[in-house]
Amino acid sequence: MPERICTRPQSEFKKHDQRLQDQTQKYLGDFYLKLARKNAREIKVSPQDIQEACHETVSIIKRDNKVNRILHGNEFQPVLEREAELSGNVKMGLLGCVDDRRFPHITTPIVSKWQGPAGAAEVKKRPSDDLLIPRSPILQQGIFEVVQNPNGFIEFIEIHSQSSSRENGCAAATIIRGQIESGKSPLLSQTGMARELITGLDYENLADFNLYLSEVITAQAFNNYYNSCLEILNRKAVPRVAVPVHYYTDTMGSVIRKLGNPNQISSTDLAMRFKDFILQRPKSGYFGEWRYQFNSTDHILEFAGRKVEYTAAIIEQYQGEIEEQLHELYPELLQGQIKATVFYIANNAAFQYMTGFALNTNHEYSNHRPEYMSVSTAEAVGQRDPRPKVISSASNPEAALENLSIKLLVMDRHHKNPSAPKILFVCHSIDRRDFETRNKGYMRSMQMVSELYNKIIENEEYCDLVKKGKLAIVPALVCDTDREILEIPNLARIL
Ligand SMILES: [Zn+2]
Repeated sequence: MPERICTRPQSEFKKHDQRLQDQTQKYLGDFYLKLARKNAREIKVSPQDIQEACHETVSIIKRDNKVNRILHGNEFQPVLEREAELSGNVKMGLLGCVDDRRFPHITTPIVSKWQGPAGAAEVKKRPSDDLLIPRSPILQQGIFEVVQNPNGFIEFIEIHSQSSSRENGCAAATIIRGQIESGKSPLLSQTGMARELITGLDYENLADFNLYLSEVITAQAFNNYYNSCLEILNRKAVPRVAVPVHYYTDTMGSVIRKLGNPNQISSTDLAMRFKDFILQRPKSGYFGEWRYQFNSTDHILEFAGRKVEYTAAIIEQYQGEIEEQLHELYPELLQGQIKATVFYIANNAAFQYMTGFALNTNHEYSNHRPEYMSVSTAEAVGQRDPRPKVISSASNPEAALENLSIKLLVMDRHHKNPSAPKILFVCHSIDRRDFETRNKGYMRSMQMVSELYNKIIENEEYCDLVKKGKLAIVPALVCDTDREILEIPNLARIL
């Protein structure tokens, strides 16, 4: 169960957010002052740009903190407990794409999220046995922790496209496919695998390429690392811990499928069948009832409470047949993992039923309009913010920079206000106690965020965007358990 933000009075939240607002103002003020001193002639940032960037940053911080406080507050506990019960207390992880097309409410803190380009984790070959493992120390640590859970673990690796065309969708997958086809892939450069992949490549369209990548790279790395942790604990290896999932950004539904197998389990089909089924029952909420409210930060608790009950009803109705289909697709999954996967797909169907997106695919989120960017080598700002953004966690600053170039491409295409600076949060996470006591752990997190921040500022391309007023860089420290933004450190001083 995720840790809670202990019951703190509203006044304290208000004070904390005011502090963050002051820190943001001070940081941005100092930053542009220093920048102007150094490069007076090149700077094309107006005071209005700075003001707009500050205003936008503060409103994102306040919204993100509000969401995280609700999701980790006491009132939300019954929802989390019900979700844990329905998913058999199996630990669940979700690896999604940097362009963050999955609506975050669909996954409450019961699922740990990680984001990389095209839903791919950076991997490396372990020198001792040449097996692929995740490259990020934070991800490795996370896997080691879930191994301790007696009920088991499953990771869903989500790739995405439009439902109408498997060639249409993920910008990051397009870039990675191009890199692999030309023999150059930063994602795989540490593994020497790019060439092996070209020769073994077997796909018909972009989504299938992405699914293939998830299976042969990311899922393998998760399986290998999980099993080596089990070995340390003298426990038996498991056949599989990661399952690739195909997510459709217009229906917001998931399909569990396997390359080369025509069968699939679709949450959209389930939502539509549930619609017909529930019509025959009295006192039920109607299909699409939440279409315009599902992302309101004022209704998070109510929405999640209703969703978990719909999820339970869908599981009750369709559990047997979903399990049977899963056995056919992935016979190696353990019973607990099957239960968690049934929960995952039913939860998604419940969301599509409540919003009506299973049928009405023309909504704000089908046309991706990212509002800001967030990059980290650990947890990042905005992981559960309901507004669209691009977000990623990388294993090191170099990889984070690679991710950033993909994000900027997506932002360029879709940014809502092209004349205002785009906000980029540069983040690291921190243990709350380390933050409060300002101990060595605090210094370390500060060092990590500074390192990433410097890397970005020192990059000519990004620095140029800053000078032109197209990009505003904001450092942030995020709580590693409840994701509350704890500090906007004034890194302008190290410029
Ligand atoms: Zn993508």
